[in-house]
Amino acid sequence: MRVRACALNHLDLWERRGLPRVTFPMPHVSGSDVAGEVVAANAAGVTIGRRVMLQPGVSCGRCEACLSGRDNECRAYEVLGYLNHPGGYAEYVAVPVENLVPIPDEIDFVRAAAFPLTFLTAWHMLIARAGLTRGDDVLVLAAGSGVGQAAIQIARLHGARVFATAGSSAKLERARSLGAHDVINHHEQDIAAEIRRMTNNRGVDVVIEHVGETTWAKSVRSLARGGRLVTCGATTGANGALDLQALFAKQLTIQGSYMGSKGELMRAARFFFAGQLEPVVDRTFPLEQAAAAQRCLEQSAQFGKIVLEV
Ligand SMILES: [Zn+2]
Repeated sequence: MRVRACALNHLDLWERRGLPRVTFPMPHVSGSDVAGEVVAANAAGVTIGRRVMLQPGVSCGRCEACLSGRDNECRAYEVLGYLNHPGGYAEYVAVPVENLVPIPDEIDFVRAAAFPLTFLTAWHMLIARAGLTRGDDVLVLAAGSGVGQAAIQIARLHGARVFATAGSSAKLERARSLGAHDVINHHEQDIAAEIRRMTNNRGVDVVIEHVGETTWAKSVRSLARGGRLVTCGATTGANGALDLQALFAKQLTIQGSYMGSKGELMRAARFFFAGQLEPVVDRTFPLEQAAAAQRCLEQSAQFGKIVLEV
């Protein structure tokens, strides 16, 4: 596939810094969110020149998990651009034919690249894991992050009332425009106290957590009785305490979530192609300026996705 656009993710930063107990094969090519054109195929039924975005998850395709539609639980599951599958910070990338998702003509490559990983992640968290129901109250942390902007839209699409946090008034306004009912400045306000106030002391049914140590305790305290906390990341650190008395007495559920199935991405993509979900692109950089693009992501100054154009 000829790469035309590749969106950044925090995973790219972890790969560059290195991870404990992970050995990256060299040379390493990052990039999990890719869009472009098919230029060659050794499989039947693939049209050369087809505009596509890529499923970011690669799996064996023949184990129980894969064949049950839980390919993100496959023991061989891997994210494009992480270890053994070179990613989209490149002019060309080779992927299994199952990873091609054709895109309509009206969807440009930059928006297409900005969609898969974060919308898949947020969809799996809200729909498969939390079992979101119309009327649920949802707290989304870090509205300006890739997962945050996707989660606000998906929760709204399913009839939830959304509360969102961000670190600046400009980002809070953007969160409102995406559909957040009310917003919290997580630098200036106590998240759990604000949630209590906004929900008449009830708390929220679902918390979408991906920040980690700095917000974990506040996220747990924000839950209503019977509430579900789903986490897909630990950007600020991986240690979180849990009050076991609160866990059982309030009947809380704590869930981990990692990516999502190929089927879920195709389901979410229908709403993208129909104009009901829209990835927010903060800015683009040419591929040659990938280093500057990563610095931009590290500073958390963006709202939505940063995308490399190739
Ligand atoms: Zn498998």
